[in-house]
Formats: sequence, structure tokens, C-alpha cells
Amino acid sequence: MYLAYNRANTLALEELNSQICGCRRCRLWQEAKHCVPGEGPLNANIMLVGQNPGAEEDETGRPFIGRAGKYLTKVLAENGIKREDVFITNIVKHVSPKNRKPYPDEVAACLPYLNMQIRMIKPEIIVLLGASAKEAPRLEGIKYLEVIHPSAAMRFTKMNDKFRIQIAELSKHMATNNI
Ligand code: SF4
Repeated sequence: MYLAYNRANTLALEELNSQICGCRRCRLWQEAKHCVPGEGPLNANIMLVGQNPGAEEDETGRPFIGRAGKYLTKVLAENGIKREDVFITNIVKHVSPKNRKPYPDEVAACLPYLNMQIRMIKPEIIVLLGASAKEAPRLEGIKYLEVIHPSAAMRFTKMNDKFRIQIAELSKHMATNNI
């Protein structure tokens, strides 16, 4: 029963990824090389949400694989959180020209995809990376944490200190609640 349910969900996520990759709801796809729907296990307890894919993500179709992503992965690992156990995605699924902040109409066009991902994965915690990720839909029963974006943490000492404290608190919360 569980295997059948899991397979159905895997297929649903694959179908959603394919919809995202064929999406033309906003202008962002026009300059993108690849769609970046997100990645991670279907049964992830934690979902990380950033703003938009960058150049390296656009090259590969994978989220958070540039310098900021590597730094994020490192700090998570230092706190006992494996990257392969979390689902990582962004508010918008195609790169923005010159890495600009996505416009409100682009965010509005793309948010239904994030909404569907949240409903499929049903994480216990959603970690919002940076201020822009605050636009993520809030669903009942999910704990939301807002943390400094890893790219800002890498550049500014004070933000780095705060980011590390925030990820340590996430890890502590997970241990306390057996997540
Ligand atoms: S950014 Fe989102 S809404 Fe815009 S084209 Fe890509 S998938 Fe569609």
C-alpha cells in the first residue's frame, strides 16, 4: 500500500516538474537554459525555499549548487542535517535576467507550483532563505522559519553569525521534536 502511494506521489511530482519545465506563465523562461523545479526526497521533513535560481542552477537545472548552495550544504551538515534529506526549491523556477529579484507578477504566476510541491511533500518545517522567500504560501500545520540567505551570510560576518545560530536552532528544534 505504502509503495503504491509512494509511486503515485513520485509520478505526481515528475508530472509537476514536467509542467514547470514547459511553463510559459511568465517571461522568465525566455532567457533560461533549464528549468529548476527543485530536488529532494518526497518524504522530506524539511523544505528549504529560496528566491530564484542563479546562473549555475540555470546551467544544470539543479537548485542551490553554486557557492551559496555549497555553503548552505556545509552549514547544514555541520548541524547534522544532510542535504539529501531535505527538499530544496525556490519561489520561481526559472532564472531571472542578471539575477534580478523576480517581479511581483512573476512570483504570482509561479507560486501555484510551490504550493503544489508543499502539498505533495507535506514537510513539517519550511525554511525560508532570505527576505524574498517570505512570499511562500503559509499552510496550516507547518512550522515556518525565516533565516538569513546563505549568500548574505557568506559576505557579512554578523549575518554569518546569525545564520549559523538559526541553522543550529533548526537542528535543535528537529532533535527536540524527533523530526
Ligand atoms: S518562472 Fe515559474 S511561472 Fe515563470 S515561466 Fe518559469 S515556471 Fe512558469
